[in-house]
Amino acid sequence: MVNIEGKVALVTGGSKGIGASICKVLASEGVKVVINYNSSKESAQSLVDEIKNNGGEADLFQCDVSEIEEAKVLVENTINKYGRLDFLINNAGITRDRSFRKLLHEDWNKVIAVNLSSVYNTTNSALPHLLNSECGRIINISSIIGQSGGFGQTNYAAAKAGIIGFTKSLALELAKTGVTVNSICPGFIETKMVLDIPEEIRDQIKNKIPQKRFGKPEEIAKGVLYLIKDGDYITGQQLNINGGLYM
Ligand code: NAD
Repeated sequence: MVNIEGKVALVTGGSKGIGASICKVLASEGVKVVINYNSSKESAQSLVDEIKNNGGEADLFQCDVSEIEEAKVLVENTINKYGRLDFLINNAGITRDRSFRKLLHEDWNKVIAVNLSSVYNTTNSALPHLLNSECGRIINISSIIGQSGGFGQTNYAAAKAGIIGFTKSLALELAKTGVTVNSICPGFIETKMVLDIPEEIRDQIKNKIPQKRFGKPEEIAKGVLYLIKDGDYITGQQLNINGGLYM
């Protein structure tokens, strides 16, 4: 088991939803957390305050992770502040769902940029620092949709499946270094992303889940913690946290 106290984590899109849960769980274990946000400064600031009030350490940095130069500055800011980076959690994501025939080129490009190219952007700058860590971890938040596909989600499914391929390839390349690379594939988790789905469709989805409920953001955060703490011999994998919806 890795001693993670005092180590540093960068969580992209960390101000809300699953990302915020990841930040809280890691901070409660003594990890210094860099919360990246794009536009939700207020949520990010109140999360920093909450973590600090509970005795943890956290800071926030604005950055659109789909922009490579901004991602570079984000990592530089992290190093300037804490002097090291041990865990990179690529969590930022968006949906722009439309059936393929109505999908605009812009919807395609935006979803690929934010969900997939961002993973390249942050990893590219973070890797030299992760290699200096004795327990470097890259955890990419993919999705069940990248495994099963989803109606109206060609763009999102392609990005999330791309993350899985990226993860496996980089895991192979880094296996000898001790830096592990894994994906987590959440099913349907109770965050804004799922609450934005029309209620009728949400009920249909819930009915199809063998465990008959949506997941909680904390359940994904616990998966992240497991891979970080106990995942020394786990690399190139997808951790499915989905109530049995995809096996
Ligand atoms: P969310 O919308 O609450 O969180 C996404 C976060 O990403 C937000 O804080 C948002 O501001 C941030 N973000 C968006 N664009 C960004 C950018 N360009 N730069 C930096 N940050 C940006 O959604 P969530 O449900 O918490 O999703 C978190 C991750 O989990 C996403 O990658 C999502 O695709 C994935 N996921 C979610 C579910 C689910 O059911 N909620 C299921 C599978 C996978």
